[in-house]
Amino acid sequence: MKKILITAAYSKDKHLQKNLFEIISEISRLTPDNPITVLLLGHHINHLKEEFIHRGIDRLILAEHPLLENFTCEAYTHVIGEILKEYPADILFFNSDFQGQAIASRLAGRLDVGLAANITALEFDAQGDIHLIRPSFGENKMAKLKFLTHPQIITIQEGTFDVMPLPKKNCEVINFYPKLAAEDFPTKILAIVEDIQKNNQIEDADVLVAGGRGIGHAKGFLLLQELAHLLHGEIAGSRAAVDLNWIPFSKQVGQTGKIVHPSIYIAVGISGAMQHLAGMRKSKTIIAINKNPYAPIFQIADYGIVGEYETIIPQLIQKLKENQ
Ligand SMILES: Cc1cc2nc3c(=O)[nH]c(=O)nc-3n(C[C@H](O)[C@H](O)[C@H](O)COP(=O)(O)OP(=O)(O)OC[C@H]3O[C@@H](n4cnc5c(N)ncnc54)[C@H](O)[C@@H]3O)c2cc1C
Repeated sequence: MKKILITAAYSKDKHLQKNLFEIISEISRLTPDNPITVLLLGHHINHLKEEFIHRGIDRLILAEHPLLENFTCEAYTHVIGEILKEYPADILFFNSDFQGQAIASRLAGRLDVGLAANITALEFDAQGDIHLIRPSFGENKMAKLKFLTHPQIITIQEGTFDVMPLPKKNCEVINFYPKLAAEDFPTKILAIVEDIQKNNQIEDADVLVAGGRGIGHAKGFLLLQELAHLLHGEIAGSRAAVDLNWIPFSKQVGQTGKIVHPSIYIAVGISGAMQHLAGMRKSKTIIAINKNPYAPIFQIADYGIVGEYETIIPQLIQKLKENQ
């Protein structure tokens, strides 16, 4: 029997991470008998317990403190360390966003244990030991990992697993009030600047028009934006487009970006590298526009258009406008 702990931060302007329920679903499916604890850190979080009662977990720990209202890696890691002393766990899961990655790596360093980041699948063997699958070696091979240290720390990207109906369990709720003082931590939050992109999250879009290096310049994204607007969608991009500063990182699709599953994904000037496919292969309909007929993206596309996007997209825009 392995004790599982899934940790999430909660702040009032955010929803609970979908990833929580995705991980709970996958663990319940694979090993229904392993007890699952969810640890939520934040301030004024007591009302969240309703979300978890009868949602497939055995225990909910609410770590509540004013200094946890906004994320700081030091305070969060400190509190998780304290909680683990009182409620030990064998396997710890974190969301693979920047917060989860920051905490998981700091915690692994502190405990001197291994960390498996960005895993894409997991399985339990007959002895109950966990094995992880993740792209490795230049990201072109899938590696199977087994931990040699304990506890085992894992990060998983949102969207990796499906949320499934969860078994009803009686959930024990524990309120944990950590002792924290601002002066114990080197980081102080001076101001929170609102992310003006937050209402355009690509994870929630039903239609995505994604551009890659083939777009050639930042201005090319204006054309994609126009198409996305007509389709009531959002723009997204490959890592190459992000690295070239044509679009922000929050719009990156792929293994180190976001995992998306829109109804329609239009990949424009994107070659279809494995790391990109990892983020969009679950899209219902994939349309690829690429001037190279042998681009790998065509292998997973439902529809493919071979040609220069500068010629094709204006024609699509024109057609859509005519039909409006
Ligand atoms: C650890 C690691 C993590 C990574 N994570 C990610 C990730 O999260 N997301 C991601 O996307 N990548 C990721 N990558 C990078 C990935 O390997 C590729 O390098 C990247 O996806 C390539 O981006 P691209 O398809 O835009 O560019 P390219 O591979 O350069 O492809 C450009 C395409 O545009 C086409 N093209 C050129 N001009 C035109 C035109 N005028 N009209 C139409 N088509 C045109 C070309 O034929 C080509 O197919 C990662 C790599 C590593 C090593």
